[in-house]
Amino acid sequence: QSDTFSNGSKRKTIVILGSGWGSISLLKSLDTSLYNVIVVSPRNYFLFTPLLPSTPVGTVELKSIIEPVRSIARRSSSEVTYYEADALKIDPVTKSVHVKSVNENDYETDLNYDYLVIGVGAQPTTFNIPGVDKFSSFLKEISDAQDIRLKIMNSIEQAALLEQDDPERARLLSFVVVGGGPTGAEFAAELKDYVDQDLSKWMPALSKEIKIAIVEATPNILSMFPQNLIDYSQTLFTKGGIDLKLKTAVKRVDATTIYAENRDTQQIEEIPYGVLVWATGNAPRDVSKDLMQQLGPEKQNSRRGLVINDKMELVGAEGSIYAIGDCAFYPGLFPTAQVAHQEGDYLATVFDKLHKIDQLKFTNESLNDANKIKKNNAKIDKLYNKIDKFHYHHYGSLAYIGNEQAIADVTVNGFSFKGAGAMTFLFWKSAYLGMCVSLRNRLLVAMDWCKIYFIGRDSSI
Ligand code: FAD
Ligand code: NAD
Repeated sequence: QSDTFSNGSKRKTIVILGSGWGSISLLKSLDTSLYNVIVVSPRNYFLFTPLLPSTPVGTVELKSIIEPVRSIARRSSSEVTYYEADALKIDPVTKSVHVKSVNENDYETDLNYDYLVIGVGAQPTTFNIPGVDKFSSFLKEISDAQDIRLKIMNSIEQAALLEQDDPERARLLSFVVVGGGPTGAEFAAELKDYVDQDLSKWMPALSKEIKIAIVEATPNILSMFPQNLIDYSQTLFTKGGIDLKLKTAVKRVDATTIYAENRDTQQIEEIPYGVLVWATGNAPRDVSKDLMQQLGPEKQNSRRGLVINDKMELVGAEGSIYAIGDCAFYPGLFPTAQVAHQEGDYLATVFDKLHKIDQLKFTNESLNDANKIKKNNAKIDKLYNKIDKFHYHHYGSLAYIGNEQAIADVTVNGFSFKGAGAMTFLFWKSAYLGMCVSLRNRLLVAMDWCKIYFIGRDSSI
């Protein structure tokens, strides 16, 4: 679309970094005819993260939970430009972003913006614990799910070649998850389902030797839930044979063993592993850290991410840079899809008002009548005042805990529900189907769930 509107005013450029929950919600709600919209992300698809823990073991196929950015952009009111690239550096003074293509040609360029939305998410944190980066798998991206799957299959096949009393066989069949947050707990539950429901049919003896453990530094897993739901989940896990190593903090990892400290006894326990999945939460990405440094510690003083105000403006670059989702920090807002989604929707309404303000400002430039200018300025002030603060609505939390059971602590339309079990699992399923970003995703996920009832999970690489 053209660079100017019919009245001669310039069409402003919004550069959106990222194609995750925050950025895609913004893109879906934004009136793209009002701006020149450029999306930059190394990932040319949206990833429905709530079902990512189901993918390494094949409960849900990876293709079912992704939606191409271009297919989402095509549904918007006007043209959207997408660049498959990483944002390396943001210059808030010249209002430009330095980006680099993700393919091997390494093309680099600078993109100028009037408004920048940072939605780059976060990276897995390792707390700089030695060996974690080198030896463990994370569960954040599609490539992580593929990596975990490969390691599980390889470990099982290698173990099958060894004698039953060989300690190496026991090590290979020890699957350890570090971090009992929802990512770690949901993945452990999916892994247990896979072993009990599928592997047990093909390798009955070997499947019984598989050990699954969750190592968690605090006294509970799934600590965001009320205590009765935590107790329910922990009992289900323990009864099912998942070893919960609570109050145990990992201190070091090498190629075969995890060294973890029991917080009560201060004793170091050595836990041999075949596959190690690391899920201890988030840390800011390099591009966010660099921007925080540029703006200085008086403005950017959180280790958790880019400090924003209650209108999603980046503190230190108000009026031009916004940050949403996991890369942003505002007290009381947690790094969840729910928050990122609502922030993206909110920013679309902000940009609607900013466009009206920009148009009035443009009109003022060509006016000589002081009265009319005054009236327009009053309208501009009114519109600025109409930009409400962001209000987060917490609908609650859901988690899959295995054996076709889930826990829920939700409030929808004033109706509160706290529950656990098989019926809650059906609720969990319908909630996640409803949250899928496209009809295509919804159908594919529903088909995957049906498929495992009839033919089981796919165990090939
Ligand atoms: P993301 O969705 O992570 O997207 C970030 C985007 O930025 C990606 O497209 C990425 O490729 C891109 N990017 C990265 N670096 C750059 C760069 N340098 N330049 C440009 N783009 C870049 N939350 C819930 O509320 N409910 C759940 O059930 C739930 N389940 C989860 C399960 C798992 C396994 C995980 C890992 C998280 C889960 N979450 C859940 C949390 C939720 O996924 C995040 O809070 C959410 O994805 C944050 O959205 P975002 O847009 O900030 O970041
Ligand atoms: P998290 O921060 O929620 O949990 C990480 C866990 O790792 C914590 O319980 C912490 O005590 C533990 N830990 C940290 N260091 C450790 C160590 N050295 N040894 C042992 N344990 C250690 O991380 P997450 O589960 O990856 O979740 C990230 C975000 O995504 C959260 O905001 C979460 O709410 C959201 N999420 C939500 C869902 C859901 O709603 N179903 C699912 C996945 C993720």
